[in-house]
Amino acid sequence: MQNYPSCPICNNTNIEFVLKTNDFSLTKEAFDIILCSNCCLQYTYPVPTKDNIGVYYNFSDYISHTDIKKGLMNKVYHFVRQFTLKQKANFIQSYFPNRLGKILDIGSGTGAFANTMKMKGWDVLALEPDESSRKKAYENYGLTIEPIDHFFQLPHNSFDVITLWHVLEHVHELNDYFIHFNSLLNEDGKLIIAVPNYTSFDANYYKHMWAAYDVPRHLYHFSPQAMKVLCERHNMHIIKYKPMWFDSLYVSLLTEKYIKWGIFGTLRALIVGIVSNLVALIDTKKTSSVIYVIQKNSH
Ligand SMILES: [Zn+2]
Repeated sequence: MQNYPSCPICNNTNIEFVLKTNDFSLTKEAFDIILCSNCCLQYTYPVPTKDNIGVYYNFSDYISHTDIKKGLMNKVYHFVRQFTLKQKANFIQSYFPNRLGKILDIGSGTGAFANTMKMKGWDVLALEPDESSRKKAYENYGLTIEPIDHFFQLPHNSFDVITLWHVLEHVHELNDYFIHFNSLLNEDGKLIIAVPNYTSFDANYYKHMWAAYDVPRHLYHFSPQAMKVLCERHNMHIIKYKPMWFDSLYVSLLTEKYIKWGIFGTLRALIVGIVSNLVALIDTKKTSSVIYVIQKNSH
């Protein structure tokens, strides 16, 4: 019997083995996914330490960090990204109908979203751990991105919005980040977190092959329930669950790439992606990835 660590959200030790999956995109190493029976968070075991995880990001086509437009997957990714960037920016602006604001984007990659907000006139601070991505952001947009370790030095009550687009699942210091979000946000500030959802149809269909497990880079695997508990633990609450419609298709296509089923795999991915979205039409909390809009509890 494997001795698993307690839940990183609620410290519960009542946990169960869910499945074994692999780092399909790089090392092929196997990792366990375990479930906290209390808050429903799933997490990867074992996880490399912060100092040792670098090797698992050491591949040239880690897609969110590249701007190379070759290969079908990359073409689809970049086309959809242009569309979703505008959607994200408009969505954020909808919370601030009459003004611009100050935004902190964490894990900016090569800066596409941060630049979109800057172009809208927002005051943008972007943070990213990867040095080559920061350089790329400067080359592409003239955007200066700061190293991620500046995060804990930022002053109190300084942001209207904090965004983490598919970033929180990579962060080692989960609770410390939330404590600091609380201090950084203005009273009516919005914390916007997008993460994959293991309760989605595509996750349940593909099981251990589901590309969004992405071990060991994804340390945690969230469900709407787990996110709710995490927020409550830090005196915050979720005010909106917003679906990310393209993610079911994207993740299904990536999964089929690992399965190597060729054209049949591509067709199956389209069907799984569409079914996943149909399920999510009935229940928003079932989308492949969910955008959570989170606010501090009022005092
Ligand atoms: Zn838990």
